Amino acid sequence: MHLRCSSCRRTYPYDTYRWRCDCGGVFELESTPGFAKDEIETGDFSLWRYRAMLPVKYEDATSGDVISLGEGFTPLVETHVYGTKIHCKLEFLAPTGSFKDRGTAVLVNTLRGMGVRRVVEDSSGNAGASLAAYVARSGIEAEIYVPAYASSSKLEQIAVYGARLVKVEGPRERAAKAVQEAAARGAYYASHYYNPFTLEGLKTIAYEIAEQLGWHAPNNLVLPVGHGTLLLGAYHGFNNLLAAGLIERLPRLFAVQAETCAPLYEAYKRRLDDAFPIEKNETVAEGITIAQPVRGRQILAAVRETGGAVLAVSDEETLRARDELARRGLYVEPTSAVAIAALLQLRGIIGPEELTVVPLTGSGLKS
Ligand SMILES: [Zn+2]
Repeated sequence: MHLRCSSCRRTYPYDTYRWRCDCGGVFELESTPGFAKDEIETGDFSLWRYRAMLPVKYEDATSGDVISLGEGFTPLVETHVYGTKIHCKLEFLAPTGSFKDRGTAVLVNTLRGMGVRRVVEDSSGNAGASLAAYVARSGIEAEIYVPAYASSSKLEQIAVYGARLVKVEGPRERAAKAVQEAAARGAYYASHYYNPFTLEGLKTIAYEIAEQLGWHAPNNLVLPVGHGTLLLGAYHGFNNLLAAGLIERLPRLFAVQAETCAPLYEAYKRRLDDAFPIEKNETVAEGITIAQPVRGRQILAAVRETGGAVLAVSDEETLRARDELARRGLYVEPTSAVAIAALLQLRGIIGPEELTVVPLTGSGLKS
């Protein structure tokens, strides 16, 4: 198993401590397992039912040996919002309250196989909390670099799992720089957006959706996008299902951003192949406040290939959508609600008979 640079195609051993290529390009896995329906472990009601399709190298990864908190296999619940029928994938029911656990579970099990003892990460949000939980369970030490100004229930969640919070003065980018320096000194950078193993775990959302729909792809998948890891994971997962002949086409991917921080939306409008760095402003959708997604090119290509679109919504629309959804019994954080808000713009684009899945990415109890 090797990592490959998505820019210059150079390869590295999968257990390298490098977090990106010397050329600056991001890593992907050189080859990954395809989807095989008859290899599903049907008695396992977590994402590990797809273990045979996950690239976890942990040599003794037999039943019971994988570090798991029961992630995956979240319910699909039907509701109507803004006159559109949707199936909500309740990702906020994950062990740490967000979809990130899918990627973290696969990453941390891979790190165990590599014998990694200490990791660093920069996230003051769901990714940091997710990593803190899984390393706690596997005996790996974690240092999570956060901006000094950050203060939220998410930081408390990170700390209570036992990870060490390293507060970095200055803007968010300083925390990213500090974590890269720590990685240069020998720590493993368990980045939720650079590390390709997290993308492998996120593919399982596509597998579950198809299985829950009786081996059909939905017509549409509408989701919040910052670094776009969930969108890319779903895209690759549905592609594997297509290659296995289990679905007849890919769903249209609708990527939703917050108006005040929408680099992909700006690039999409201008018909560009990649996002350019923008000046970001505050938004209630804090989980997707990303000025420059590291896989922007891949996200835009996936959206265009599937006939989807990139949309942007205002904070007012987002908070209203959050409330609309809560009145249907589903309480999500504002970041997740951008996808619901976008349904207003998608009226007329999504047909009345179409099947639309919206992953509800994070719990309202977190905000
Ligand atoms: Zn490269």
